[in-house]
Amino acid sequence: AGDRAAMAEAAAASRPPPDVDTDDCLREYRHLFSPDILAGQVAFITGGGSGIGFRIAEIFMRHGCRTVIASRNLQRVSEASKNLVAATGQQCLPLSIDVRQPQTIAAAVDEALKEFKRIDILVNGAAGNFLCPASALSFNAFKTVIDIDTIGTFNTSKVLFEKYFRDHGGVIVNITATLSYRGQALQVHAGTAKAAIDAMTRHLAVEWGPNNIRVNSLAPGPITGTEGYRRLGGKFAEEASQFDVIPLQRAGNKTEIAHSTLYLASPLSSYVTGTTLVVDGGSWLTSANNFPALLGIASSSAK
Ligand code: NAP
Repeated sequence: AGDRAAMAEAAAASRPPPDVDTDDCLREYRHLFSPDILAGQVAFITGGGSGIGFRIAEIFMRHGCRTVIASRNLQRVSEASKNLVAATGQQCLPLSIDVRQPQTIAAAVDEALKEFKRIDILVNGAAGNFLCPASALSFNAFKTVIDIDTIGTFNTSKVLFEKYFRDHGGVIVNITATLSYRGQALQVHAGTAKAAIDAMTRHLAVEWGPNNIRVNSLAPGPITGTEGYRRLGGKFAEEASQFDVIPLQRAGNKTEIAHSTLYLASPLSSYVTGTTLVVDGGSWLTSANNFPALLGIASSSAK
């Protein structure tokens, strides 16, 4: 009986928490961390109106945090904010920014500080991605992905540093990816952009550590219920049983990414800086990276 209980417990350790595939709040939520672990804090989340960023905002709010969710589409973040407030009872300020334009970030951070008087956490989640072989990628498409992902992450981090973190400390979590680890086919743009962010994480951790600022990356694997999953052929991979090769035998969900982000943003990781937490079920170690085969999948999943 002891064995069975131990096995049940071991199974529970990799069982995913429930999630919903749409950009809606969770229908049920059971706290695993202390519900007040972020009480009194404020998080500024770029890309917080959809997908992974939205769920990060929700999970943070369920742990006592107020949030600012910022992206280009004001209508999207405003709608998301209403849902988040209704589900969690916390405050959420929706703002429009383009991370490629520092002055829009500066204006948003000013507004957030006026509203909340503090910002403790920055999550850089804004990004753009699509499948494309290097041979078909335009010069401009490559540049745009670097602009949004890499330069956008630097712009936002620097504005937060100057306006608040330099004097008060803070935590930065950069959402990256595992694409560059094995040179993922059809992903030279996003893989390059995210690898540069992981480098930036280490540089800023070194320079800003003395200001009591921790900087870490979180690299998700394939995550269901996201734009990334839809655009990068997730459904196709699921139907073709390709997730069977992942050590944990499945895709991850948004709540799992939010929980790991919560760990990195919270005092549970008070001595963690300059590192990348990979949250992918072991996927990058074993998943397919065969250029011709993936090219075939990309063209058939685009249909
Ligand atoms: P998503 O919903 O499309 O999230 C991207 C967000 O970025 C959107 O809310 C978008 O909002 C915002 N954004 C895009 N360009 C922007 C800009 N110039 N300025 C400000 N905001 C901008 O996709 P997701 O799949 O959840 O991805 C979230 C993060 O996880 C990304 O960093 C992605 O690279 C990473 N990731 C995802 C997966 C996955 O399986 N989904 C795997 C690895 C890594 P607006 O359109 O309103 O601007």
